[in-house]
Amino acid sequence: MMDNRIDRRRLLQVGAGAGLAAGVLPASARAEAFAQNRVQSYVTLGRTGLMIADISFGSSRLRTGEEAVVRHALDKGINYFDTAESYTKGASEEVLGRALKGVRDEVILATKTGAGAGTRADEIMRNLEASLKRLQTDHVEVFFNHAVNEIDRLHNEEWHAFVDRAKAQGKIRFTGMSGHGGNLIQCLDYGIDNDILDVMLVAYNFGQDPKFYEGLTKDFDFVATQPDLPRVIEKAKTKDVGVIAMKTLRGARLNDMRPFEQGTDSFAQAAFRWVLSNPNVDALIVSMTSSDLIDEYLGASGAQELGANDLPLLHRYAKMNGDSFCRHACNACEGSCPYGVQIADVLRTRMYAMDYRDMDFARAEYAMLEVNGSACLSCSGEPCRNACPYGLKIDELCAPTHVLLI
Ligand code: SF4
Ligand code: SF4
Repeated sequence: MMDNRIDRRRLLQVGAGAGLAAGVLPASARAEAFAQNRVQSYVTLGRTGLMIADISFGSSRLRTGEEAVVRHALDKGINYFDTAESYTKGASEEVLGRALKGVRDEVILATKTGAGAGTRADEIMRNLEASLKRLQTDHVEVFFNHAVNEIDRLHNEEWHAFVDRAKAQGKIRFTGMSGHGGNLIQCLDYGIDNDILDVMLVAYNFGQDPKFYEGLTKDFDFVATQPDLPRVIEKAKTKDVGVIAMKTLRGARLNDMRPFEQGTDSFAQAAFRWVLSNPNVDALIVSMTSSDLIDEYLGASGAQELGANDLPLLHRYAKMNGDSFCRHACNACEGSCPYGVQIADVLRTRMYAMDYRDMDFARAEYAMLEVNGSACLSCSGEPCRNACPYGLKIDELCAPTHVLLI
């Protein structure tokens, strides 16, 4: 394992220069330390054989004019860029297309379309070709079916016909699915067992893993959201399916954790080290919204185990956010609403607005919901009031989310 953390001598110099107690660094010294970080490890993405940076570029929030952020990532050694046709209404793909012009052969691109159970192959092909145009390329290495939460979408023969044709035409090299919904486990089991995934992109973070809660006081809140996820990820590994983790920050309330971070260790790095210490995970992607965050995030590149400060930091985060974080993949509240409101998805978009503080992204995602929270405006809230086993006040959260995001 390569260790890319700032060396201890340098850390002490920076700290001593600022006259600080050990473990506490001013923001400028931290930024200086983070600026030295770069990718330390390239991993093989399962059967694809692609070598990608272990911490790679998620671009769900990439906006027009942010080409410099992409180029900063490139300068730091990141070579895998993940996007989707729906991200920032296509701007994400366009920015990547412009920023990566001239270096297309040096990078690996992944994009996505949401193909449903009845979507025709021709339509999927048109969507792919529109993505290729925005990306200014003639192919992508990985093409995902986006946010799959129903097995019917994986059955769709038209998807498989499309995949065969697109591969034969050289427009895609590999395929797979992304997912973060309540039926994720069933979908992944089906996809792996039927050998239709080269790569899977899954929401996976410390709070979904039973191992994380070992040693914590028993409490109803401290139950792994998807205890089967580690099993499915392990199975994927045995079948040589590439595994990329996303949503690794469990809500990304980074600023809440700043007071508790020490030296050049940060909560984000701890969360990434948790994910990367699972040998069945190949790599992770994270929304990279600024050069400073890229520098901070890459402090965890190359990690294969947790650092000494990591577990206390992650436990603190879990305790602080236990009763306000919707584990949207748990979906235990499904069916409680007589109006069919997609509660978990409404609360996921709320997370984008309140935690990520990205109103545009939140509104765009909210606009895609089939059944949003409009019914909540005139509902007593009685049916869903006690539907969340984690104590989230669904009835008090959904109506304000609708007002905020409509
Ligand atoms: S509101 Fe509660 S039950 Fe519903 S998805 Fe979120 S955490 Fe799960
Ligand atoms: S407040 Fe009413 S409409 Fe809204 S999710 Fe709950 S039960 Fe459904």
